[in-house]
Amino acid sequence: MSCIQNPDEILSAVCDALKRENSFLITTHIRPDGDSLTSVLVLAHVLKALDKDHWIVLDDPIPAKYRFLPGIETILQVQNARPLTRHRACVVMDSSTLNRIGTLAETVQKCPLIINIDHHHSNEHFGHLNWVNGDESSTVEMGYAVLTRFGIEVTQEIATLVYAGIVCDTGCFRFPNTTSRSLEICGEMIRKGVSPKFIADKMFYQKNPDTLRALARALDSMELYFNDTVGCIHIRKEDLDSLSEADTEGFVDYLQLVPGTKVNFFMREEAKNRYRVSLRSKNNIPIDEIARVFGGGGHAQAAGCTIEGTLPDVRKKILEVLRRRLD
Ligand code: AMP
Ligand code: MN
Ligand code: MN
Repeated sequence: MSCIQNPDEILSAVCDALKRENSFLITTHIRPDGDSLTSVLVLAHVLKALDKDHWIVLDDPIPAKYRFLPGIETILQVQNARPLTRHRACVVMDSSTLNRIGTLAETVQKCPLIINIDHHHSNEHFGHLNWVNGDESSTVEMGYAVLTRFGIEVTQEIATLVYAGIVCDTGCFRFPNTTSRSLEICGEMIRKGVSPKFIADKMFYQKNPDTLRALARALDSMELYFNDTVGCIHIRKEDLDSLSEADTEGFVDYLQLVPGTKVNFFMREEAKNRYRVSLRSKNNIPIDEIARVFGGGGHAQAAGCTIEGTLPDVRKKILEVLRRRLD
């Protein structure tokens, strides 16, 4: 495990490793989101420029709404990418734990060099080289720092990836992780030809009618607790039809519109007696601590976990933990 603390030193160490090794496996967390996908694609641009063998392999399929990302077709799913054992180095991006990369964890664990690049405060430093900075808006911003360190030309494709990843993790520049640096980078990406409207539409403002119907049902389930400071919504499997997890991303954010709520959560039935929970916090309640009680994690204001039980059970479990935290 690396003992380098200074962000600039660790960035240099990451760049040295990228120059030194020749064959890389790049991966990210399960249920990939905009930041994770753009991070791995930006890193692939770096390795391409350095003329290194590299493969991007993921455990889960790519959600439809991210298929517009340039180069997305180069990402392999794990079942189409065997054997994976010959890689000298693995780069894991935007994943706070090794578990979060799913079945690939076993392969990655055997790799002689694991480079861990991430912006989750809770990152478990599972790599040989750990570049973890909880103050970064997104992992793609860290990938961009690598790219600029090598002086690689920022094409329109790369600019689209960087802009899209930052927009995604900052919730269109609304979340507190939005820094002046993120906005400066995004300004630069617009100068390189990015269309902010195109990207915002693709990632946030285009919904198919089934998604809107599911949203209507979810919002209809709204309940408020603890003097209306905690809001929750849910959706049953039978109401999801063929909708994917990516389609219901952002449902929880509607609860955040209620001014008095401090914590909000969305329970999505994944299987009988199993719920995927998205938690959001507005004030200073670090919601990742709540998610961790149930084996999940995330950021202080956005976190997730999976909980077994019936819907009333799952809701009760979360409310009990929240009651103790809100007191
Ligand atoms: P979500 O509610 O799924 O949008 O997740 C919010 C944030 O929490 C994202 O940054 C995720 O990467 C993170 N997250 C979600 N689920 C988990 C988990 N089981 N373990 C660690 N982090 C998670
Ligand atoms: Mn992510
Ligand atoms: Mn991220």
